[in-house]
Amino acid sequence: PFDVLVIGGGPAGAAAAVYAARKGVRTGVVAERFGGQVLDTMAIENLISVPHTEGPQLARALETHVRQYDVQIMAAQAATALSAVDGGFRVDLASGAALTATSVILSTGARWRKMGVPGEDQYLNKGVAFCPHCDGPLFKGKRIAVIGGGNSGVEAAIDLAGLVSHVTLIEFDSVLRADDVLQRKLRSLPNVSVITQARTTEVLGDGTRVTGLRYEDRQSGAVRDVALEGIFVQIGLVPNTDWLKGTLALTPRGEIEVDAHGATSLTGVFAAGDCTTVPYKQIVIAMGEGAKASLAAFDHLIRLPLS
Ligand code: FAD
Repeated sequence: PFDVLVIGGGPAGAAAAVYAARKGVRTGVVAERFGGQVLDTMAIENLISVPHTEGPQLARALETHVRQYDVQIMAAQAATALSAVDGGFRVDLASGAALTATSVILSTGARWRKMGVPGEDQYLNKGVAFCPHCDGPLFKGKRIAVIGGGNSGVEAAIDLAGLVSHVTLIEFDSVLRADDVLQRKLRSLPNVSVITQARTTEVLGDGTRVTGLRYEDRQSGAVRDVALEGIFVQIGLVPNTDWLKGTLALTPRGEIEVDAHGATSLTGVFAAGDCTTVPYKQIVIAMGEGAKASLAAFDHLIRLPLS
């Protein structure tokens, strides 16, 4: 069995694996896609001390760093179940195999919910973005839309309004769902317009970059185009935790509940990164949380009774 088995090979899982291996304990990583969301990213400019990198390059660097240690990487493998067994845990894999471990670190990340309209995938990283903290500065002085009028959409619109020339906030419903205080702030901004009852139907582009957004006015049925350079999709971040339902405490949104040490409701199981309740989903935060969960797992291991 492993002493520490990490599930997920994004920034959180890679950091957890390096920290565990440096303690000299038997460490394994199960990852569907080593690199995680970083693989889907182009420019990364907020990983402190690395002024500029690109997603695929950072993903390779994560793997290279982990491989410098004695870590067993099980790539292209998905975990499907976690259960407590005598003296630890069992993790079932989609391949039918099962692994056992004394402690487990869950770092399966999350995925941004997409609109599912034509042009969205084609112009991903070419005008279509998900993370205002990451990609906001790329749209300095340009026109953008934010899709979604919940708290994250309205927060993104307020944030981006300070950088870009104009923000159009598009909401499907007839009202915004964000907190009142955020809505008041939003409506006080001179360079923001809000369109409700609007169903986005297409991301428009010139083959290279986004040039606009098409939506249907749900009241009149009219189809309208907005000329712009960027679209931030803010309709939800979904944690990859479906396979853990009923195993440990998740929030109603599916985030793994963790304490300040990354401990979950199941003693011996820790979690880190975008799959957890830790706020602000960022690479630098996921890395720090992965390191922390790993140190907490080690603290747990050295306190186990001798067998
Ligand atoms: P992830 O990166 O999501 O990794 C999860 C890992 O778990 C993957 O290896 C995945 O394959 C694996 N996995 C999932 N389910 C299972 C399973 N059942 N079994 C086995 N393995 C599983 N952040 C920044 O700080 N700066 C940026 O510029 C930036 N740009 C971004 C651009 C885009 C387009 C996106 C989508 C995100 C961006 N982010 C950025 C956010 C950043 O990528 C995430 O915060 C970070 O990757 C989270 O790391 P993580 O390790 O928690 O999860």
